[in-house]
Amino acid sequence: MPAAGGSSEQLNNEFALSRQRRYVNRKGKSAAATSSMAGRRALKAVLIDLSGTLHIEDTAVPGAQDALNRLRQASVAVKFVTNTTKESKRNLLERLQRLNFDLQEKEIFTSLSAARCLLEQKQLRPLLLVEDNALEDFTGIDTSEPNAVVVGLAPDQFNYQTLNRAFRMILDGASLIAIHKARYYKRKDGLALGPGPFVTGLEYATDCKATVVGKPEKTFFTQALSDLGCSPSEAVMIGDDARDDVGGAQNAGMLGILVRTGKYRDGDEKRIDPPPFLTCDTFPDAVEHILQNLL
Ligand SMILES: [Mg+2]
Repeated sequence: MPAAGGSSEQLNNEFALSRQRRYVNRKGKSAAATSSMAGRRALKAVLIDLSGTLHIEDTAVPGAQDALNRLRQASVAVKFVTNTTKESKRNLLERLQRLNFDLQEKEIFTSLSAARCLLEQKQLRPLLLVEDNALEDFTGIDTSEPNAVVVGLAPDQFNYQTLNRAFRMILDGASLIAIHKARYYKRKDGLALGPGPFVTGLEYATDCKATVVGKPEKTFFTQALSDLGCSPSEAVMIGDDARDDVGGAQNAGMLGILVRTGKYRDGDEKRIDPPPFLTCDTFPDAVEHILQNLL
């Protein structure tokens, strides 16, 4: 069997096989016999990017709410995964609910959630360079006598004094954790510096490497799936970012579907290797493909 991220045709064949296996299962063959046909298993989870995939700023992608409802009627788990450094889960939830999307806070997994997971796992006490809006996702984390620096997009904190404090802490052995390393992002008034240049500045000054926790990191995707009880080979990711959504997910062993909305630019599907499992015009088209072919 080819690895995940093989050609669309190969992967389609795997799913065809998977559907045959389930049919055989219903006919009474033992699980052992069918698992010996190994390879990609039936789809159990769909991970969905938010900005650019379900909505663009305060406008929903046409038909996206209905498509999400249709997906929920199928027997797959759904989770929303996003790289955010400045919006808490609650902020994101409120924005999506205003746009009439049906979702719950516990279904959202963000790069802030991933940073929190890492801090808990390693029992680190962070100096949090994040916006006030993001702080609530770290409620309960001990920040006394910090021994880690967590960098998100925090324009108000990116001043000499704070960055110098972070620099000294890292020199003294504190871990450097980047929520993500975007070089820049799009604002209403034009392009603006992301957290990446500030993380890179600290790396350069201290000669260390940051641990990055957001998309496209493999651990981000495996953590997002961790409470869904399925393996990457049983999951698909839908997003508008070829590298961070689709490339990252496929690198983690999932299928990736690229949508031509949001930040998508002509030819993005050719900019990653292996290419996306599938490229669709919009989120509703991606859902239709999943319902018709992957379940
Ligand atoms: Mg996006």
